[in-house]
Amino acid sequence: MAKTDYPTQSTSHIGRIRHRRNGAKPAKWATNAATKSPTVANTVEPASRPAECEANAVRKIVRLVARTGCRTHILHVSSGLSVDVLRRAKAEGLPVSAETCPHYLTLDCDHIPDNATAFKCCPPIRDLHEQDALWAGLADGTLDGVVTDHSPASADMKAGTLATAWGGVSSLQVGFRAVLTGAMRRGLSLTDVVRWMSCNTARLVGLDDRGDITPVLRADLAIIRPYERFVVDATALESRNPICACDGMTLNGVVTRTFVAGRDALSGVREGNLIVRP
Ligand SMILES: [Zn+2]
Repeated sequence: MAKTDYPTQSTSHIGRIRHRRNGAKPAKWATNAATKSPTVANTVEPASRPAECEANAVRKIVRLVARTGCRTHILHVSSGLSVDVLRRAKAEGLPVSAETCPHYLTLDCDHIPDNATAFKCCPPIRDLHEQDALWAGLADGTLDGVVTDHSPASADMKAGTLATAWGGVSSLQVGFRAVLTGAMRRGLSLTDVVRWMSCNTARLVGLDDRGDITPVLRADLAIIRPYERFVVDATALESRNPICACDGMTLNGVVTRTFVAGRDALSGVREGNLIVRP
């Protein structure tokens, strides 16, 4: 499969944040790996962007960090090889931070239905072995956080085949609870998930007025029942587009109330318009 069969969507790169989808050249790997694959629909995406390419890109960045001392953040880590590179970089005291996303932690490429474009993203969703390595990276602090990388693509953009559909996973409303479910299954706790998805992320981007439950800080809060389970129904989500890679999954965490800057997010909100400005 040629590289040109997989259009890369444009992405803005802000400052020193490095988006690893522009990593090492995947074309040759893709040709070899994809032609060997029996089920193209399921395997072509990971085969087109192998974990080794991702790790090479991260290695290259880490070398530049060592040379320049430039504070650097790696987005969307999807592979254990990259976690290994980052673990060593952090042990050397280099100023790098890194994150992964709910889909890399909770979905795996061997259980994706054929041609299910809801799962197409860059880097691709890899196998359970890689997933375990990402959880280990979170548990030991190599990965600092989990961010949504929510992609609100319309049904039109997600239509077609894996080769042509827009890349990106839509999961904003359920991502936190997908990670919570995975964490609880692995003996990790709600506190860990809050650290990865709230405290650390707020600190990373300099939102000093939130990220902890403390007097004087801004109260952006969700009250949730972590042990109560629900089934994700993509058509019932608040998203404009009824597409979600978690559709049909049973997840932990029912939200009972949400506060934005201390105010009940749903009070005075018109039906069908959840936008509130505190
Ligand atoms: Zn992204």
